[in-house]
Amino acid sequence: MPTGQSVSTRRLGLRVAGLSAGYHGGTVLHDIDLHVPAGTVHVLLGANGAGKTTLIHTIAGIGLARRHRGRILLDDTTRDVSGWPAHRRARAGVALVPQGRRVFGTLTVAEHFTLLPGAAHPANAWSGDWLAYVFPPLIRRLDTQARHLSGGEQQMLAIARALLCQPRLLLLDEPTEGLSPPIAQRVRQEVLDRLAADGVTALLATPDPDLARTVASHITVLTAGRVTARFDPTSLPTDPAQMLAALAPATSAHRPTTTARTTTGPTAPTDLNPGVPR
Ligand code: ATP
Repeated sequence: MPTGQSVSTRRLGLRVAGLSAGYHGGTVLHDIDLHVPAGTVHVLLGANGAGKTTLIHTIAGIGLARRHRGRILLDDTTRDVSGWPAHRRARAGVALVPQGRRVFGTLTVAEHFTLLPGAAHPANAWSGDWLAYVFPPLIRRLDTQARHLSGGEQQMLAIARALLCQPRLLLLDEPTEGLSPPIAQRVRQEVLDRLAADGVTALLATPDPDLARTVASHITVLTAGRVTARFDPTSLPTDPAQMLAALAPATSAHRPTTTARTTTGPTAPTDLNPGVPR
């Protein structure tokens, strides 16, 4: 079976430090600290409206969200890209699987791929062979315009497009949203579960604790635009009520008290409240 191999050139670390961002002068993200070491998969876990997309877009440099302060560093802290335009970040190896597909409706599936820099290079880990194995429906529809694909096929195209860019840092915003169960399962098994083994650095946003548990090396919980907890996958609560409490905005009336094993210390208690230090 074709697969990505561990290629050191694909590794790019990410560090976000003291990041605040929002829209039209308002603030959605408050003082976010995040570290994704090269070659690891970090999950951003949060309920609807928690700010996951805003953070992913701010890192990619796309969309309407504006950074107010803080830094976005690549190469494990050496390059501050927070002032860079999106295309320069993309050239550095940052690729995005956006929420809601965002494929080009009038381009065919094949045209999406031929536009990608380096996609046809035989040495690339994600190749035409890989694509045919993981997403056979796309291969059958190479001449179809994206607007005539089903929602699930468009999502497959969005994922394939990002991977065929041979990303060094992959940002995925709810990548299995809207996929039928068999296709979602295939994406999990053949793409998401393999990212860490393939040496890809990835930041994946999802509201799904089960997905987080399966694919993550580390998990950061975002609640109302703030980091409220950090877990390793084994310490993520399995009890649904506890998990709901971890994802809910903390108020004085409803303040979760669960402790979590942090990623910085194996047994240090972490209050699941806003302002958890990184
Ligand atoms: P979901 O899981 O529902 O996609 P999310 O965690 O990705 O949610 P965001 O989409 O980042 O959350 O939204 C966070 C907050 O930012 C929300 O309160 C939302 O209303 C606000 N927001 C998002 N996009 C804009 C925009 N273009 N203009 C103004 N506010 C926005």
